[in-house]
Amino acid sequence: MKIRFIGTSGGYPTAKRGTMAMTISSEQANLLVDCGEGTYREMLTGGISPLDLTAILISHQHGDHFFGLPGLIWGMHLRDREMPLMIYGPAGLRENLTTILSVSGCRPSFQLEIVERTSGDSWQIADLAIECAAGIHGSMPTLAYRVSKSAAPAKSPAKNRLGARGAFVYSGDTAPCPEIEALAASAALLAHEATWRSPDEVPSQAQKHSTASEAAEIAARAGAKRLLLVHLSPKWVDHSEEILTSARLIFPETSIPADGDSYIIVD
Ligand SMILES: [Zn+2]
Ligand SMILES: [Zn+2]
Repeated sequence: MKIRFIGTSGGYPTAKRGTMAMTISSEQANLLVDCGEGTYREMLTGGISPLDLTAILISHQHGDHFFGLPGLIWGMHLRDREMPLMIYGPAGLRENLTTILSVSGCRPSFQLEIVERTSGDSWQIADLAIECAAGIHGSMPTLAYRVSKSAAPAKSPAKNRLGARGAFVYSGDTAPCPEIEALAASAALLAHEATWRSPDEVPSQAQKHSTASEAAEIAARAGAKRLLLVHLSPKWVDHSEEILTSARLIFPETSIPADGDSYIIVD
């Protein structure tokens, strides 16, 4: 199972980082997880065709995770995609996405099925098993996802090869959340949001994201093998070494992926 980060910025893009998106590829499936603006183009830059996507998982409908989705569907329609596409996400996704496609005059050339999930759901996409849990993100319904595979090891090379067996977990946007901690139990790789640099800099009224230290505490308590800090605020991304140091004091196996970085979980 190969995970490739397409965008890793929280809120809005920077010169080096697009908004949130990643692909998960196995022998039988290609998933896109979240779809911030610019995802279509960045997928092409990484050599991944949107036409090859099996399904899309959306954590929530804030723009930095969602604004690329109508454009992605529009592009696949113009390229005469024929393969059906499943899109999974939290409550409200079906009505909102259907409305956006309708007002923009997009009737996809392919069968599009939008399935709303709730915390605790589990299902299968080809050779990938999916589970989800609700995050804590103000009034916005949001889901974290756990993806695991049981078939033969992936063969393609990647920059980072992980020795641990098991699952990939993505937190979406969330304050520290016990349900996500449980979802991440013994995960080979946990990509957890780390929007804030430190507790001192969390804006008032904004307790719906995590600091790097809080993400590290979740990883440690969950028994994850490795932690990737994503969704760093553009305001503080220039302080990434400092952010990394604060997390590694709690959970040493922590990294901050760049856009384009990929990881393989050997199963
Ligand atoms: Zn976000
Ligand atoms: Zn959000």
